[in-house]
Amino acid sequence: MPAGMVIVGAGECGVRAAVALRENGFDGPVTLIGEEAHLPYERPPLSKQAMTAPDMPLARTILDAEGFARLGVDFVGRNPAARLDRAGRAVHLGDGRIVPFERLLIATGSVPRRLALAGSGPRIAYLRTFDDALAIRARLRGNCRVAIIGGGFIGLELAASARSLGAGVSVIEAQPRILMRGVPAEIAAVVHDLHRGKGVEIACGEQIASIEDETHHILIRLAGGHAVEADLAVIGIGAIPVTSLAESAGLAVDNGIAVDDRLRTSDPNIFAAGDCCSFPLSVYGGRRVRLEAWRNAQEQGALAARNMLGADESHAAVPWFWSDQHEMTLYIAGLADEGRSVVRRDLGGGAFILFGLAADGRLVAASGIGQGDTVARDIRLAEMLIARQARPDPSALACAGTKLRQMLAA
Ligand code: NAP
Repeated sequence: MPAGMVIVGAGECGVRAAVALRENGFDGPVTLIGEEAHLPYERPPLSKQAMTAPDMPLARTILDAEGFARLGVDFVGRNPAARLDRAGRAVHLGDGRIVPFERLLIATGSVPRRLALAGSGPRIAYLRTFDDALAIRARLRGNCRVAIIGGGFIGLELAASARSLGAGVSVIEAQPRILMRGVPAEIAAVVHDLHRGKGVEIACGEQIASIEDETHHILIRLAGGHAVEADLAVIGIGAIPVTSLAESAGLAVDNGIAVDDRLRTSDPNIFAAGDCCSFPLSVYGGRRVRLEAWRNAQEQGALAARNMLGADESHAAVPWFWSDQHEMTLYIAGLADEGRSVVRRDLGGGAFILFGLAADGRLVAASGIGQGDTVARDIRLAEMLIARQARPDPSALACAGTKLRQMLAA
């Protein structure tokens, strides 16, 4: 078998890379290796539409069998990469097959962080895969009581879905507030009130003392003395990058597989992209970050593919993500913790944006919340201003009448 481009990990990032290899003219062999039984699918619907759709949902496929055939990409599913032989430039798969590579991309993503004291059992769930979503969905019906451990994105999106189905929902968060990482307190407070208004109970600053799987329910005892009884506990306490393949092959790891701004690992023939890698973010002076976000997975997959073909392009994108909860959508561009001062722009109807400015006046973050897409356009423009390292006038930013597009043109 001739060596070609091999991608390990068939999520958003890996598939995007496979497509980009063809879009950029590579006509040699491309192999995409995945461990799940499904064709590659979109993850954003798992906490939302996959829970709430009245009919049994199908996985929203990113590329179907016909698409793979058309692109001439060999998709190997249900066959995890077991070992990476750097000297022999080959990936050894679970079934013993050996896939040689000229260049390799590791796009293995991340997996849910486990809560050791929760143990395992049919009433304890994590959400990462389509099968996880179906298992949760099957239990989330009618007067089910669900306890969600972790007030992050998984927990809160799931809380909104469960509530819309009529389930009783309690969220337990260890930090003093929900969405502690990456979301400004002012926006987290709006999200908190939104959930409370919909009947979601939220307990912050609570450590879990024990989780007991009783005959008919789960009993979660909190260190503060309270207890929560539920039919299902879903744990969403963060994700950890999947680095084992890289680590056992001696590649550098630093909160994820360490790559340079070209997404190259410590081996020049091996790249890593998406949730599994940490990389220097040029817009923030090379600060090393790891992003767990859908768009980053897409952008890095495509960039890694171009660089695997010799493009030598630097990653220059501004982080961006969104989250739908009840009727509101939250958008964030940039890194909110980079801001030293904050300017608020009110857009009416309760929608607002917080712009984060660095000490030198550079716009470094924009976080907004509103119904539907109310803040989406301004956040998109703010993202472009951040990429340009613009220093907008704070009073103009605060005024909803000032068009961000004009600032961009200036
Ligand atoms: P997350 O957003 O990092 O939130 C997890 C939260 O749980 C954190 O606040 C964490 O606090 C808290 N926590 C940790 N241990 C706890 C404990 N023992 N008891 C109670 N709370 C605890 O992670 P996630 O919600 O699990 O999401 C997993 C991944 O999916 C993330 O990468 C997320 O970005 C991604 N995702 C993204 C979206 C989106 O972009 N819209 C939607 C869904 C999922 P600490 O910070 O102290 O650990």
